[in-house]
Amino acid sequence: MALEVDRAEGSYIYDHRGKGYLDFISGISVSILGHRHPKVHHAVTGQLERYWHTMVYGEHVQHPQVRLATLLHQCLGPSFDQVYLANSGAEAIEGAMKLVKKVSGRTRLVSFRNAYHGGTQGALSLLGSEMYRSPFRPLLPETYLLEYNDEAGLDFLDERVAGVFVEAVQAEAGAVPAQSGWLKALEARCRHFGIALVFDEIQTGLGRCGTWFGFQHDGIVPDVVVMAKGLGGGLPIGAFSASSSMMKHLAEDPPLGHLTTFGGNPVCAAAAVAVIEVIRDQDLASRALQAYGILVERVKQWSLEIGIPIQLSGRGLLLGLELEQDPVRTREWIARCWEAGLLVDWFLFNEGRLRLAPPLNISDSQLHDAMDILRKAWG
Ligand code: PLP
Repeated sequence: MALEVDRAEGSYIYDHRGKGYLDFISGISVSILGHRHPKVHHAVTGQLERYWHTMVYGEHVQHPQVRLATLLHQCLGPSFDQVYLANSGAEAIEGAMKLVKKVSGRTRLVSFRNAYHGGTQGALSLLGSEMYRSPFRPLLPETYLLEYNDEAGLDFLDERVAGVFVEAVQAEAGAVPAQSGWLKALEARCRHFGIALVFDEIQTGLGRCGTWFGFQHDGIVPDVVVMAKGLGGGLPIGAFSASSSMMKHLAEDPPLGHLTTFGGNPVCAAAAVAVIEVIRDQDLASRALQAYGILVERVKQWSLEIGIPIQLSGRGLLLGLELEQDPVRTREWIARCWEAGLLVDWFLFNEGRLRLAPPLNISDSQLHDAMDILRKAWG
C-alpha cells in the first residue's frame, strides 16, 4: 500500500503529503473508535502519569486491570468471572489452547477451514488454510479442521476433543456469518461430549457485529472467549476469559501455568477500559447495526441500477462486498479506492471480496462518502 502515515484522527489517516484517507479498514478491526479517540487518549495519558510497569501480571493489584476485568465480566455474562490479559490475539489464543487441554486432560483441538487464529505455532496449527501452514510444519499434533457451517461434519466431535475454536462471523473467509442452527448444533455437541467451546471474538467482539460479542447474537454460551484487536482501541492488548473453575487449572499444578511479562500492561488496560466505556455509553453496538442498515440500502440501490447482484456479507460493521469473485478485478478496485481517498482491502482467504470494517462511530455522511467512492471506483 506504501501509505506513509503522518498522523491519524477520527476516521481519517493522513499521509506525509497531507492527503486524507477515510479509513474503512481500522487497521483490521482495531481502531474501533477511530484514531486517537479523546476518551482513550485521556485514559492513556492519565495512566502514563501514574505508572507504566511495576511487576509481571497478577503480582501487584493494578487498578486498570481490575477495572477492565470487571467491565469484561459485565459484557460477557455471569459465567465469565475470570480473565487473563495478554498482549495480542495470537497470545490469547495460545492461552486458551493450553487452558482447554489442561482442564480436560484431552489433546485434540478442532477449528474450521478458512479460519485465521494467529501466526504463532499453536495458533497456526488451528489456521484453516494449508497454504499458510505447510511451510512451517511440523505444527501441533492432533489439530483438526472441519468445514464451517457444515452440520454433518460435527460428527467428528467426541470425547477425545479438548476444545473447538470458532468465530461467530468468519472474518478472513470474507465475513461469513455462522448459521444459527449450525452454531446451536455445535454447542449441543460440545455440551454432550464435555468439549470446551471457544469463541474467537478477536474481530467480531466489542460491538462490531451488533452485540457485545458475536456469540450473543445466537444466544450461545461458550466456555472460553478470546479477545484482542478493538479491545485496546489501537493499543496492544488481548484477553481470554472463562469461569474461575476452569481458569484455576492454569494457576495450579504447576502453580504458574501460564505467564506473561507485559500482558495486561496498565497503559493498554486503561485504554481498553475507556474503549469499553465509550462503546457502552454511546451504545455503539446498536450504531453498528444502524450503519449496516445504511450500507444495505445503498448496496440494494446500486445493485438495482446496474442490474448485477451485489453481495454484502457479514454482520454489523464486519462486512464483505462482492460484485465479481475475481481477485484481479477486486485488487484494481481497491487500488482505485485508495487513489480516491478510501482505505479498503481484501480478505486473507477471499481475495475476490472487499473488506469493510470502519470504526463503530462512523458518521452517516462518511458511510455515504465511502459508498460514493466504492461505486465510482468500480467503474
Ligand atoms: N483471530 C482472528 C479472528 C484474527 O483476525 C486475528 C488477527 O487478524 C487473530 C486471531 C490474531 O491476532 P493477532 O494478530 O493480534 O495475534
